[in-house]
Amino acid sequence: MIHTKTTPLRDSILRHLTYSFGKDPEHAILEDWRMALSFAVRDRIVDAWFKATQKTYETGAKRVYYLSMEFLIGRLLEDGIVNLELVDEAKSALAEYGKDYHEVLNDEPDAALGNGGLGRLAACFLESLSTIGCPAHGYGIRYEHGLFRQSFVDGRQVEMPEHWLEQRHAWEFERPEVRYRIGFGGHVDTRGETVRWYPSEEVEAEAYDTPVVGWKGRWANTLRLWSGRAIHPFDLDAFNHGDYTRAAAPEALARTISRVLYPDDTTEQGKELRLKQEYFLTGAALRDILRRFNNQFGDLRRLPEKVSIQLNDTHPAIAGPELVRILHDERGLSFQESVEIARGTLSYTNHTLLPEALETWGEGLFGKLLPRHLQIVDQIDHEHAKNFPKRTQSMRSDNLVKMGPLSFVMAHHVNGVSALHTELMKTTVFEELHNLHPERIVNQTNGVTPRRWLLACNPRLAGLITSSIGEDWVDDLGQLSKLEPFVEDAGWLDKYSTIKRSNKVELSNWMSSAHGIHADPDMLFDVQIKRLHEYKRQHLNILETIAHWLEIRDNPNADWTPRLKLFAGKAAPGYFFAKDIIRLINDAAAVINSDPMTSKFLKIAFLPNYNVTLAERLVPAADLSEQISTAGKEASGTGNMKFALNGAPTVGTLDGANVEIREHVGAENFFLFGMTAEQVMERRTTEAHARKAIEADPRLKRALDEIRAGRFSPSEPGRYEGIVSNLEGADYFLVCSDFTDYWRAQREVDASFKDTLGWARMAALNTARSGWFSSDRTIRGYMNDIWKAESLLEK
Ligand SMILES: *Cc1c(COP(=O)(O)O)cnc(C)c1O
Repeated sequence: MIHTKTTPLRDSILRHLTYSFGKDPEHAILEDWRMALSFAVRDRIVDAWFKATQKTYETGAKRVYYLSMEFLIGRLLEDGIVNLELVDEAKSALAEYGKDYHEVLNDEPDAALGNGGLGRLAACFLESLSTIGCPAHGYGIRYEHGLFRQSFVDGRQVEMPEHWLEQRHAWEFERPEVRYRIGFGGHVDTRGETVRWYPSEEVEAEAYDTPVVGWKGRWANTLRLWSGRAIHPFDLDAFNHGDYTRAAAPEALARTISRVLYPDDTTEQGKELRLKQEYFLTGAALRDILRRFNNQFGDLRRLPEKVSIQLNDTHPAIAGPELVRILHDERGLSFQESVEIARGTLSYTNHTLLPEALETWGEGLFGKLLPRHLQIVDQIDHEHAKNFPKRTQSMRSDNLVKMGPLSFVMAHHVNGVSALHTELMKTTVFEELHNLHPERIVNQTNGVTPRRWLLACNPRLAGLITSSIGEDWVDDLGQLSKLEPFVEDAGWLDKYSTIKRSNKVELSNWMSSAHGIHADPDMLFDVQIKRLHEYKRQHLNILETIAHWLEIRDNPNADWTPRLKLFAGKAAPGYFFAKDIIRLINDAAAVINSDPMTSKFLKIAFLPNYNVTLAERLVPAADLSEQISTAGKEASGTGNMKFALNGAPTVGTLDGANVEIREHVGAENFFLFGMTAEQVMERRTTEAHARKAIEADPRLKRALDEIRAGRFSPSEPGRYEGIVSNLEGADYFLVCSDFTDYWRAQREVDASFKDTLGWARMAALNTARSGWFSSDRTIRGYMNDIWKAESLLEK
């Protein structure tokens, strides 16, 4: 038994090194030290975890279940150390053994079980739920391979499989006793009132639990991930007949289901395996939730009172029909009552208005894999149509199953993720359903956890904040407003700027040693890091960069503000346009970075393999945050919040949560440009809008001409014809129409950055006024408005 509270960390580390890993300090490799430290920290997390579980049972409190196909959790060791306030102890303990704290932390693999914002949001929510002490589980899939690793070959993105589980992993507990059978295919048998689904194929979902500890270790919840396994793993008969491939086939087939994360951020592919994954996650989670509920409460009519299930996008939307199937077919409740109980339990978060991202399934595929669910969807849709005879939007038209309308109808609340996005939902995708159910849509603007995204990733700034206003801001981020008076104090501002500069030096050193990229920390660090997508408009950024470079060349002795343009982000492997944008940025970087005329003033770097760990390095060192999506397309963004919190003002459009960030930090501390969502819709109807914009702006024209002429791809001048002709033609995302105003905003940035004190004040005000963007605030919003759940720490 390990007596964690009283045992010094150094002793726990040594004990784990010795008895968990069988090494003495002389022979331990870095990974042994990382694992020993992780286990020592984990012991303490487990103590908090048991206490939380016990309290949840004792109080009979309502539980929240967050179902998500993605959890972009990143590394967990530092998170645990920071939340348990063990940073100093861990550093000195490792130092006693001659080990460097940061080197040990850097050994941990980054768990990339998600694509981007949606998955990172789920991870921030888990941490906030634990900090607040709301009894909750996250449910997801334990992908063997997370998001691909990205590298560049001749400027082009190359994808390689991610093997996060190949290194030893300290955080999960396998639960071989928690397994459920998940079926697919087969037929439906109807005998009078009794309906039964007999699947033709079954796999087993096995649980792996990761404890998620909140601030100060006051509470810990569980992230339960499902792994696929065969029910009869090995065909001995086949093996004995020498057919080794066939012998192992059932195992391989079942494991395929949790093998890889789909790497598409915002495009729906309608692939069979993806639908299987979605049902695998949802089916296993619901069985687990109902088992727990049954043990504790029994009466299924109380489900909405004791259970709240949040669907992170439509990916787990099969939860509606599946819950109805279980309640009606298996537990004998009436169809009507089953629907009502399911709806009382489920709520749904919409994450995008992009039409290509709204999930639909061909009824052929859906009915083949989930024949009973197809009948149930039809019946739900039929009854909804009966109740609202004038309804035109169906979840079952065009031979499709439409997961958006299904989720809407089966949820008691539907939420958007920023004020603008929620309003647009009401007037676009869900206009009709909103009019039929005007109480259903609510807004919950996204947030980020301040533990990871300030306290842990920016210890210098966190230190200044704590020494200025005390440490209560860590779980009450609104308190950052107490920093406001300090921004009038030149001495304090100087400390603030010195910290930013130290962070930039640290990043420069890392870029130089890890990537051979040399950056001058006195440049303005201008950062755009996010998935590659046309709507996010990395091509607007590089066009402006090229135009700026040409202008510097025209007048190389002018007093230009030196800039480093930093990019990072992955493109979906099949998204060729986005991959061309990556290549263009890399090609432009090669030419521009080697231009001696401009190198003092402009540099470009595209860092490979963007992930949570890289974001944690870049965010604290940014001077400027690029949030330049076409207005109306970015549902919220959370990268924007990380930057504002860490003192990087935004150059951005009125899109997603940018709108609210600008309201909070003040219009004078935000570089606004571009059309509004309304103007965007209007502009699209203007004939030849792109050509007109190009004709009106010679800088834009020149940049496009240089790209077309092969200035950045001399060996293949036509390489970017696709991008250029797209921009001159349809330009759906209105890069050309927003270019001129973007250019203007960037020159305003240049001028402002020259005023060092003024810039520091603006940066500090971004920090002081970003407290509202804590995911603690978001989670309290869900608890009050949607889940009706309570914190057990405040009781
Ligand atoms: C925060 C974060 C995102 C989301 O960034 P956006 O700019 O909001 O798209 C994506 N990926 C990672 C690794 C992140 O940390």
